[in-house]
Amino acid sequence: MKLPVCVFDLETDMLCPNCQERLERGEITKFEIDFCKWILEKRDIYPSLEELELLKAIQTDDLLILVVKKGKKQVLTSNDDLMGEIEENYGETLVVEGPAKLHSTIRSLIKPAVEVGVNSLYLPTGVKESIVILRSEDKDRIAYTKEQLRDIATAIVGDPVIFQFQSEREKQEERTEDDDAYEEKMMDFTRRRP
Ligand SMILES: [Zn+2]
Repeated sequence: MKLPVCVFDLETDMLCPNCQERLERGEITKFEIDFCKWILEKRDIYPSLEELELLKAIQTDDLLILVVKKGKKQVLTSNDDLMGEIEENYGETLVVEGPAKLHSTIRSLIKPAVEVGVNSLYLPTGVKESIVILRSEDKDRIAYTKEQLRDIATAIVGDPVIFQFQSEREKQEERTEDDDAYEEKMMDFTRRRP
């Protein structure tokens, strides 16, 4: 069984310096540690968990996202009793394989729809953020909300991925134009004052 935290740390209930550092850097979370502890205890009931290679566990508002190593999804999904227990404790659960490339991740999440475009930019912190533009008319064909898409894609890829529908983008641009117009008026107003 491979987990984001050393199994030994979980068993002894004390983080090694390496895991402690990773926790402080935000590479692992308190939730992940708790979840790992929980699933480690399930190993006695479900011996097949020995095959599990969990990369990340992320709890969002309405989903538990478990990112497992490629080829290890079945270890969880083929075990109905285990999945039932996970969902009973953590709510609706999605098991995905990772880490995966940005493009294939997007495609697999939004199918049968296809994205209009992807803009990636590097933030001053060195983090690569990607914005995926979707057709507004695809909204009903995509199984997830854009917030869920963001959470899932970010979990799989490991960098922030934001989803926007075209109509929202246009609205945003309109708003900017309005703001500009407002500013211009204010400038006019200021200029006209004696
Ligand atoms: Zn450790």
